Amino acid sequence: MNYFSSNFKLGILGGGQLGKMLLYNTRKFDIQTVVLDPSNEAPSKFACNEFVQGDLMDFDTVFNFGKHLDVLTIEIENVNVDALEALEKEGVKVYPQSKTLRKIQNKATQKLFYINNDLPTAPFSRFAYASEMKVAIEHGSLTFPFVWKSAQFGYDGNGVKIVRTESDLNNLPEGECIAEELIPFKNELAVIVARSASGEIKTYPVVEMEFHPEANQVEYVICPARIPVEIAKKAELIALKTAKAFNHVGLLAVELFQTENDDIIINEVAPRPHNSGHQTIESSYTSQFEQHIRAILNLPLGDTNNKANGVMVNLVGAEGYKGNVIYKNIEEILKMPGVTPHIYGKKQTRPFRKMGHVTIINKDLAEARKIAEAVKNTIKVISN
Ligand code: ADP
Repeated sequence: MNYFSSNFKLGILGGGQLGKMLLYNTRKFDIQTVVLDPSNEAPSKFACNEFVQGDLMDFDTVFNFGKHLDVLTIEIENVNVDALEALEKEGVKVYPQSKTLRKIQNKATQKLFYINNDLPTAPFSRFAYASEMKVAIEHGSLTFPFVWKSAQFGYDGNGVKIVRTESDLNNLPEGECIAEELIPFKNELAVIVARSASGEIKTYPVVEMEFHPEANQVEYVICPARIPVEIAKKAELIALKTAKAFNHVGLLAVELFQTENDDIIINEVAPRPHNSGHQTIESSYTSQFEQHIRAILNLPLGDTNNKANGVMVNLVGAEGYKGNVIYKNIEEILKMPGVTPHIYGKKQTRPFRKMGHVTIINKDLAEARKIAEAVKNTIKVISN
């Protein structure tokens, strides 16, 4: 198939920042793209060749969008999977496959998949309604503390709550959920795996994620993770085994916990480019976004090694500001060595909204981390 400067059409469901960064690469390769997103102000809008406004969860919208395309991919998991399955039957190549998305969309079925495939994950129980957890506690089959997770539609930690006492159960949404063992982890790690339709498979270096204590959002991604080689190897092997178990095509970001005993267990996966791989744009020979395009088009995969050490800082809306965004002190961070800001193109800020990220690359990882902290303390995402 000739993808380059041809009539070939790649569709992307979702037009957020991940889509925008994918599109830098389709522009580079001159591959035609069409994007579907509900918002008329989607960050991807001006980087694609064609933009369609519509509901990603509506069967007809997704089916009609996809039926004239050659390959369809996603940048967000919450899309109509029945439509994707129908499109696969019509001969459209959908990556990640509908069966993979179906398993991943629901945290309970995702966790069962790990158990069935002998992949390590935290023990859990499944509940059709949150109120059933109270009954399980009364009967002693569930004990404090545990982690409540909404089975569907959680993102960036907002469908997750640590439950330590009875009162923490108040005000939880009533829907399907899981109760997971609370893991006292040493580190949160992630490995991005790229796998093409022909089965070629590669991993990016293991990264370490530092979280904001309140917002539960990633504050720094550090690449490579500051962990012993044998732990990194273990994490890579588990990530590879996970991607193979899904028979995955495209990128699979595998989020992991390093436990106090140095066991590596899977937290969750994302079948797409991921926040833990943004630094690859500057730090790797092949960015995660270019790699996703290569993998879903069954092209040879690029080199996943680092050219330099990388640290990524998320730019989220500062607390107390809502409205037209201003990136205060952006000139100051541009003076710092190895610093590249990425601005996603969202006109309105609000507290903790992901507005952009900054990559810091340096030969010395400790120096990169130091500069990252200076970046974080200097730039502020506010409104006028
Ligand atoms: P989301 O899908 O919203 O990103 P996650 O399942 O990744 O949610 O959980 C968000 C964060 O909550 C994790 O990054 C981790 O810090 C914490 N967390 C999740 N599960 C557990 C657990 N079993 N034990 C301890 N902390 C957890």
